[in-house]
Amino acid sequence: MDSLTPEFVGRYYDQTSQLFELMSSANIHYGYWPEDKQELSLVAAQELLTEMMIQRMRLPATAHLLDVGCGLGHPAMRISRETGCRVTGVTVSQVQVDQGNQRAAAAGLGERVRFQYADAMSLPFEDGAFQAAWALESLLHMPARAQVLREMRRVVVPGGRIGISDMIYRTPLTSDEASFIRGAFLMQSAISLPDYRTLLAESGLEVEEVLDISTNTLPTLPHLMKSFEHHNETLRAAMGEAAMSQLREAWVQAAELYRRSLGYVLIIARRG
Ligand code: SAH
Repeated sequence: MDSLTPEFVGRYYDQTSQLFELMSSANIHYGYWPEDKQELSLVAAQELLTEMMIQRMRLPATAHLLDVGCGLGHPAMRISRETGCRVTGVTVSQVQVDQGNQRAAAAGLGERVRFQYADAMSLPFEDGAFQAAWALESLLHMPARAQVLREMRRVVVPGGRIGISDMIYRTPLTSDEASFIRGAFLMQSAISLPDYRTLLAESGLEVEEVLDISTNTLPTLPHLMKSFEHHNETLRAAMGEAAMSQLREAWVQAAELYRRSLGYVLIIARRG
């Protein structure tokens, strides 16, 4: 398969962001189901995952946070609303930049929350420009995690917190499986949790917390598939029958692979 360039990933999100929002919420990420709350809706579970990250970032109102791979800007707006912090979000989807800025302005957050087009592999910011940075389910799309982690480290102040939510593999993937998730999730670089820890250390980051939430995120794809069927008509009009059945098939396979071999972690680290 061709290399998943940032431009390719950006076009994918130009086309799919609003469809993801229709099927779930403006959080373009997995949901978290606590053991005793399996009845949560997908939207509530996604909000909970965002909230878990917000709590862990422990940002003061004076902080300026960099949001790497900001999506439609919902998590950025939420953390700003809750803490008073400023946020700059970057994405490779121009549609997301425009939507994010419109939504922030409409919510009265235009002064504090801004979105711009930038490739996280080479961030257009000065060293130490931010007090903290986070990347919610975006690093998996990037050609090299090490490079992005180095960039995130560079642009935060010494001691600054770095939050990550990301997909991992729990059991090694066959090369067919690895190439399948490239297509299904646009996941460039599958990584195991032990390798992730090594990578963080090599990138000059000190790990504060690693939370393996693989089991808690499991209901995400089944919920998304249900929602997909629920919005059948709208989706067919937007993408056509052929693309729909392709996606349906891919998700069945993806859900099975996720249950068997994939997983999800929340990582809180600091620039050493
Ligand atoms: N963090 C958001 C969106 C996650 S979707 C949320 O939780 O709602 C993945 C995001 O990563 C998209 O916004 C996509 O544009 C962004 N992304 C992928 N590759 C990127 C790159 N090289 N540079 C910047 N952003 C990237």
